[in-house]
Amino acid sequence: MASHVVGYPRMGPKRELKFALESMWDGKTQAADLEQVAKDLRASIWKQMSEAGVSMIPSNTFSYYDQVLDTTAMVGAVPSRYEWTGGEIGHDVYFSMARGNKTKPAMEMTKWFDTNYHYIVPELSGETKFVYSSRKAVSEYNEAKALGIDTVPVLVGPVTYLLLSKGDKSAPKGFNTLSLLDAILPVYKEAITELKGAGASWIQLDEPKLVMDLESAQYEAFKKAYAVLSEVSGVKLLVETYFTDLPVEAYKTLCDLPIAGFGVDLVRGSKTLAVIKEHALPTGKTLFAGVVDGRNIWANDLAASVNTVKELQASLGKDNVVVSTSCSLLHSAVDLKNETKLDNELKSWMAFAAQKLVEVVAIANAVSGNKDEEYFAANAAAQASRRNSPRVHNKAVKELAAGLAGSEHRRATPVSTRLEEQQKYLNLPILPTTTIGSFPQTPELRRVRREVKSKKISEEDYDKAIKAEIDSVVKLQEELDIDVLVHGEPERNDMVEYFGEQLDGFCFSANGWVQSYGSRCVKPPIIFGDVSRPKAMTVYWSSYAQSVTKRPMKGMLTGPVTILNWSFVRNDQPRSETCYQISLAIKDEVEDLEKANITVIQIDEAALREGLPLRKSEHADYLRWAVHGFRITTCGVKDTTQIHTHMCYSNFNDIIHSIIDMDADVITIENSRSDEKLLSVFREGVHYGAGIGPGVYDIHSPRIPPTEEMADRARKMLAVLESKVLWINPDCGLKTRKYGEVVPALTNMVNAAKQLRAELAK
Ligand SMILES: [Zn+2]
Repeated sequence: MASHVVGYPRMGPKRELKFALESMWDGKTQAADLEQVAKDLRASIWKQMSEAGVSMIPSNTFSYYDQVLDTTAMVGAVPSRYEWTGGEIGHDVYFSMARGNKTKPAMEMTKWFDTNYHYIVPELSGETKFVYSSRKAVSEYNEAKALGIDTVPVLVGPVTYLLLSKGDKSAPKGFNTLSLLDAILPVYKEAITELKGAGASWIQLDEPKLVMDLESAQYEAFKKAYAVLSEVSGVKLLVETYFTDLPVEAYKTLCDLPIAGFGVDLVRGSKTLAVIKEHALPTGKTLFAGVVDGRNIWANDLAASVNTVKELQASLGKDNVVVSTSCSLLHSAVDLKNETKLDNELKSWMAFAAQKLVEVVAIANAVSGNKDEEYFAANAAAQASRRNSPRVHNKAVKELAAGLAGSEHRRATPVSTRLEEQQKYLNLPILPTTTIGSFPQTPELRRVRREVKSKKISEEDYDKAIKAEIDSVVKLQEELDIDVLVHGEPERNDMVEYFGEQLDGFCFSANGWVQSYGSRCVKPPIIFGDVSRPKAMTVYWSSYAQSVTKRPMKGMLTGPVTILNWSFVRNDQPRSETCYQISLAIKDEVEDLEKANITVIQIDEAALREGLPLRKSEHADYLRWAVHGFRITTCGVKDTTQIHTHMCYSNFNDIIHSIIDMDADVITIENSRSDEKLLSVFREGVHYGAGIGPGVYDIHSPRIPPTEEMADRARKMLAVLESKVLWINPDCGLKTRKYGEVVPALTNMVNAAKQLRAELAK
């Protein structure tokens, strides 16, 4: 029985590609050095798969930056500003599109479906001329072949590519990128023909757009595209889908396409199996059954996967099923072998990408009657130990979480009354000023945190250094005359890791990096067990900060939904259950802050929107438990305790009622990069009774906005919001900025608030 892998991480087990890229971008090494690192990485990945026994090994899943950008290069859709004049696209043009150059900004980047990977958004118009301009796929195929390894070249499918594109500046509003299908297909045909000529027998086209809510014209585009591509004879086309259930309509479409097979995600797509059994498979087609999770780090339940594959064989025919991964392993960590921080028991419950290759092959072998008894026995033992381990299961936490059912956890007093009670106590001026939380993170602070971890400096020295930093951040804010202060978060490395490290049920890998975009990687915390809080996490620093000022000091927490969405999450219980457990831990922290006389507490939910399911029909259920999870953290505080939340985006027109339903007293949000979007929500008559601080300046840029510009932004908000609810603050935390930028910008911001107060007083 064949085994197949959809794709593999590119960075290397020790992020070799990241360092090679950044070194070349910094001018420290040459392109040839980068190319050698890349070639060695590709070779080692192919050899690893070959040695594991994977029979269908992918190629062209490597990328110097992003697979969608690689496709843009392949079809020659370079935006005119990069002044490309034709020919094979080289590093200069490629990296200019990805990162901008001295004179031209980069192309836009956005999230790849519901993952934390970001792709470069193609810019197209009616004028776009598609030309076959990057032979990367065929050269990688040949490179593997030279090593004696026959591979399945992988391309982003043409329909998904067009649907992920946007109209460029010259395109008319509402430009339909699918109108370019006829124009782009000849380039795909050329690439497929060349790959076939080089010897490829299968070619994989990734069409994850098929799992989304599509209209009939979009389904028609798939039919048209594959009718054309299948004209290349003598090569088998595999269309890969992933990330959630395949709608019945999409399944039927795939069955009708003139292709040799297609892949489905049977991990996230829990209902797909039933669809397949009901609608069967046309003769001659192969189903690639994605049973090994590409989005997580847990070991597969091998016995269960073998059963699933056997069931599929029983209904589709023995030779029509291939064992595969649920999606590209790009979204998992690379290799458990390099883990020094995780103990052996935790490791026995996990599989990173390298281990997942072995799982895919073991499942295929077992289904063909060639079961590796020892490997399966070890896997079954690990599954059982995880199911029963007291490290995973905490009866008290489970009971508390179960007890949440039946209540909405709302604060008893309406927000307008609460705001009045809080104002009596806080006595803030109209249009109060604040910042979002973090202040610039200096190399000195990073050194101090690193050295206390490695015990190079004592706890006392660390304590002294952090307090000194808090002192200076507080003093600065008082000098600037900001109304509600923050302590600047000098003790925090990361807004999720900081909490995960102090909560039970979390563990951390040493090298479990996942590509986020370009050379950037993140190392998500791993939630392996029931979550609880052994002791207070932030009270010490917040109390200290409050003790050195008379002004209100915000307690700063990360919300449960954000902690959940930025971690590798348990697969043995629903996400909502894990979220509720985190909510209970944060609730205890909120109440401890309140007891310590912290009267303003901010709970960031930066990633609330990120967790939205891909399909609209599932949004309501997610928003219900996510918003409920947030309310659990705040439902127990006094009316006089002011709860803030913060979000790093403002495109929430569609979820505004859920935001209101969070029932925070004040929300601060990104606004300066998308002014009109936020204003339009209120223009349309949505009533937002709570306090609101739409950012008056963009902290993502080093630019220092003048007072008048910030005052203007606030005036626009005042046109649609009552002055008593409006706050004046930046867009986001300041940790990536320098003091040379922060001080003048905040000076102007406070001046803008004062100017407006004077105007309002008239
Ligand atoms: Zn933010």
